[in-house]
Amino acid sequence: MSEDCIFCRIVAGEIPSRTVYEDDDVLAFFDANPLAPGHTLVIPKAHHEHVQDMPNDLAADVFAVMQRLVDPIETAVDADGSTVAFNNGEVAGQEVPHTHGHVVPRFEDDGGRPIHSIFGDRPDLDDDELDDIAATISERAE
Ligand code: AMP
Ligand code: ZN
Repeated sequence: MSEDCIFCRIVAGEIPSRTVYEDDDVLAFFDANPLAPGHTLVIPKAHHEHVQDMPNDLAADVFAVMQRLVDPIETAVDADGSTVAFNNGEVAGQEVPHTHGHVVPRFEDDGGRPIHSIFGDRPDLDDDELDDIAATISERAE
């Protein structure tokens, strides 16, 4: 536990949350400032700042809970779909430095936009740059 982490304090029961799912390793609770009814955060109970900091099996558990909750969440609020996403790193908009996945119910004409809309200008990448980037990723993913 990280003493000054708000989500660790929720896990520890020091701060209240409206919990919708809990097991030994994962907790899911409503976002306190929801973007839509049913907006839910899914977190590992252990403190890890970024997605990539979690051990693989814990990351799999977190995603499994997100996947498991999508249908119940959509059903509970009669949603037409959902945005399922992580802000990973401060530059990407992560405000709470304890990794958390968002499940945000979506509705026809809700005024929201796809994930693509959060980005600015698209890069113009030539084949060599794409090959270099892909090769680096492949090597490091082994
Ligand atoms: P992010 O920008 O991805 O770090 O999202 C952080 C989210 O945590 C925001 O949507 C906040 O509304 C939410 N949040 C912050 N504090 C709490 C809290 N005590 N309980 C529930 N949600 C919270
Ligand atoms: Zn934490």
